[in-house]
Amino acid sequence: MAQQQAPPPPGYQPAHQTVVVTTPGYAQPLIFREGPVNMSCPFCQAQIVTTTTYVTGTLAWLICGILILLGFWLGCCLIPFCLNGCKDVVHTCPNCRQQVGKFSRM
Ligand SMILES: [Zn+2]
Repeated sequence: MAQQQAPPPPGYQPAHQTVVVTTPGYAQPLIFREGPVNMSCPFCQAQIVTTTTYVTGTLAWLICGILILLGFWLGCCLIPFCLNGCKDVVHTCPNCRQQVGKFSRM
């Protein structure tokens, strides 16, 4: 459901002039975190809330390696792969399924 702002009726006069300041390069760098992000998709231009998917990232591999070095064999080194807290988060657009961003823990 797209939320659309109703355009003002014809002949509508604003009480006072609103100055819209458009600063060049305003495009704030979007910071992706673990949670879904409200943004406009660069691919389909839709206003979306990103879908997040956990993927095994560098940190999980690193912890796995450390656990192996510490002697935690027997599957313990697989723990990082089960913990979402060790994984990277990929943000995808629910509309066009494109990857719009990624949160990396490294
Ligand atoms: Zn999209």
